[in-house]
Amino acid sequence: SKEVGRNSFQLYKASMNARSLERLSMLSRFQHALEHDEFELYFQPLECLTSGRIMSVEALVRWRDPALGMISPAQFIPLAEELGLIVKLDCWVINKACEQLSIWRAAGHDIRRLAVNVSAQHLSHGNLPQTVALALERYQIDGRYLEIELTESSFVTNLHEAKITLKKLKALGVSIALDDFGTGYSALSYLTKLPIDILKIDASFIAKIPDEYGNSEIVSAIVAMAKALNLHVVAEGVEKTEQRQFLQKLGCHTSQGYLFCKPLAGQEWLRFYNAVKVT
Ligand code: C2E
Ligand code: CA
Ligand code: CA
Ligand code: CA
Repeated sequence: SKEVGRNSFQLYKASMNARSLERLSMLSRFQHALEHDEFELYFQPLECLTSGRIMSVEALVRWRDPALGMISPAQFIPLAEELGLIVKLDCWVINKACEQLSIWRAAGHDIRRLAVNVSAQHLSHGNLPQTVALALERYQIDGRYLEIELTESSFVTNLHEAKITLKKLKALGVSIALDDFGTGYSALSYLTKLPIDILKIDASFIAKIPDEYGNSEIVSAIVAMAKALNLHVVAEGVEKTEQRQFLQKLGCHTSQGYLFCKPLAGQEWLRFYNAVKVT
């Protein structure tokens, strides 16, 4: 009746207010965090499956809010995208990664390649090649030490524009990885249309090895396709020895996951790097 309608409207209004307040406070927290260095990078090494050595490292952002503690990127990245702040965060990450690379190299650490994640929105709303070029210049980093990870959703809106952007990035010497492969819905033809170097098989496929019916065949087909296209292929989310063995048998180049190493803060990561380097 009318009464019920009014009550549920009041309720709706109250939750709307709570939601927009929450968003507002998140928005100001986020902006504060960007200005006050509350973000930091963690590093997860990738293992070369032929040598057992460190192939490259992925930078993963962390947010340590003084009041809320550690907030996972799975929580705040979608929010940053929604609030239109993701380009700012990506720029911070790109600059921080280049700064870190220059510090490591100055200290004699021969880190082969550092990968950063860039949101799909960045490709259409930002000037990614310029941001990368300026960061490389500022920290005197050769582009070949940097890798940009993008997901399929970066290409679907405008393939032509994406191609131009990726070509500009390639001209800087940067390598391009296609992240979370197998989770999107677009045609595979863009794999040959875009200058992609690395294909990262999404962790959801690896998690189902070896149990789920047909899954091993899918992974094996993806690895074969990637190799036929001359792409470097990485398996994400490798947690078990038998998954690693299976991937190794397929000739998958690289493995990433908790089995080799979880994401680590800077100092811890350097300890891991030094330990693996000498073995
Ligand atoms: P992603 O790029 O696919 O990164 C891999 C995620 O899987 C990371 O989660 C990593 O900690 C986690 N992971 C690694 N190995 C394993 C494993 O063996 N098992 C399991 N269960 N998980 C594993 P994280 O750090 O929470 O990041 C989540 C996502 O947030 C990333 O997924 C990426 O899409 C996004 N993200 C992280 N950092 C950045 C960033 O700096 N910029 C942007 N735009 N996005 C980022
Ligand atoms: Ca990634
Ligand atoms: Ca991924
Ligand atoms: Ca992802």
